[in-house]
Amino acid sequence: MSTTGNEHVIEHYEKKIYDQNQLLQISKALNSTLDYQYLIDAILNICLAQLQTLNAAMYLETEVDSSVFQLESSYKGFDFGETELNFRIPMDSPLIHFLAEKPKATMLSFILAKPELSKDPIVLFFQKLGVEVIVPLNAKGRVNGLLILGEKMNLSEFLEDEKEFMTTLASLAGIAVENARLYELATVDMMTSLKVHHYFQTKLKEEMERCRKKGTKLTLLFTDVDKFKVFNDTYGHQAGDVVLIEVARKLIENAGKHDIAARYGGEEFCLVMPGADEEQGFAKGEKIRKDVESMIVKNPDTGENLKVTLSVGISSFQITDRNNKDLIERADKALYQAKHGGRNRSIIYKPT
Ligand code: GH3
Ligand code: MG
Ligand code: MG
Repeated sequence: MSTTGNEHVIEHYEKKIYDQNQLLQISKALNSTLDYQYLIDAILNICLAQLQTLNAAMYLETEVDSSVFQLESSYKGFDFGETELNFRIPMDSPLIHFLAEKPKATMLSFILAKPELSKDPIVLFFQKLGVEVIVPLNAKGRVNGLLILGEKMNLSEFLEDEKEFMTTLASLAGIAVENARLYELATVDMMTSLKVHHYFQTKLKEEMERCRKKGTKLTLLFTDVDKFKVFNDTYGHQAGDVVLIEVARKLIENAGKHDIAARYGGEEFCLVMPGADEEQGFAKGEKIRKDVESMIVKNPDTGENLKVTLSVGISSFQITDRNNKDLIERADKALYQAKHGGRNRSIIYKPT
C-alpha cells in the first residue's frame, strides 16, 4: 500500500475515534439529565453542531398511551406552518413500520423511491418541509420517536459516516428520551400537570439543605381553593376538575425558572421558590391569587361561566427548621389565617 493510502486509512480511523469520543461524551451528557425538555434541546443542538445543518426536529409520543408522534416545540430551523405544527404521525403508519424494520438513518430520497411509501402523507409532508434524513429513535425494541434533519449548510450529501453517527446518536437518544419520559410520568400529576407530592417533598428537602449550606433563601407558598366542597356540590365534580386544571395552569404560568409548582394533595397546591424571600413570595402569591380571581372557566356540561377564589399562605425557610415539616406547617398555618381572615387573600406567616 502506498504512503498516501496508509495516511488515508489512518485518517479514517482517526475520524472514527473522534466520532466515538463524541458519542461517548454525548452519551454521558444524555444520561445525566432526566429533564425532558432540556434533553430534547440538547439532542437537537448536538445534531446541528455535529451534522452542520440548520434544521432539526423531533417527533415524540406525548401521552402515556399515545398512538401518534407529535412535534416537540423546541425544534430548530424548519419553517412549519400553523397547521403543520399539529401534524401527527400515527405509530401504525407505513413509514413507521418501514423504519421499525430498518432502524437507521434513512435519506428521504430513498423513501420516496419506494412505491409503497412515496404516497404516504407523512412522507409528502416531510418532502415539502425540506427534510433530508429521517432517523428513528429506539427504546426497548420499538420506535419511540423520529428525528428529522434538513439539508447540510454547504448543501453536500450526508456521508455514510455521518449516517452511522446519526443512527448511533438516535439509539442513545431513544433510551435517554424514554427514561426522561418515564421519570416525567412518575413525577407529574396527570390531571393538573403539577409535580406530585413525593417529588415536592424530595425537592423541598434538597432546597432546604442548600439553604443550610449556602445561606440562601427559600419561600414556600401553599394555596387552597376557597369553598371548593360547595363548588363541587353545586356544579359537579367534573366542573371541579376543570377548575383545578385551570388553577394549576396559573401556578405553572407564574412559576419562575427554578420554582417548583406541585400538587400537595386534592385542591391544595404549592409553589417552592428557591432564592425568594417572604416579600417576593407574597408578591407571587398575590399575582396567582388575582389571576385566579379574574379567571372564568366554562362548565363542561352546561357552558355556564364559573369562578373561584384562592387563599394563599406564605412562609420562608428559617435556619432553625429541622425538616420539611417545620416549614410546611408554617405555610399551612398562614393559609389557615388567610381562610379565617375571609379567604381570597395571601398571608405571610406570623407567629401567634
Ligand atoms: P375552604 O375554603 O375552607 O378551603 O373550604 P373547602 O370547601 O374548599 O374545604 P376543603 O379545602 O377542605 O375542601 C376540599 C374539597 O376539594 C373537597 C374535595 O371534594 C375537593 N377536591 C379535592 N380534590 C379534588 C379533585 O381532584 N377534583 C375535584 N373536583 N374536587 C376535589
Ligand atoms: Mg379549599
Ligand atoms: Mg383543602
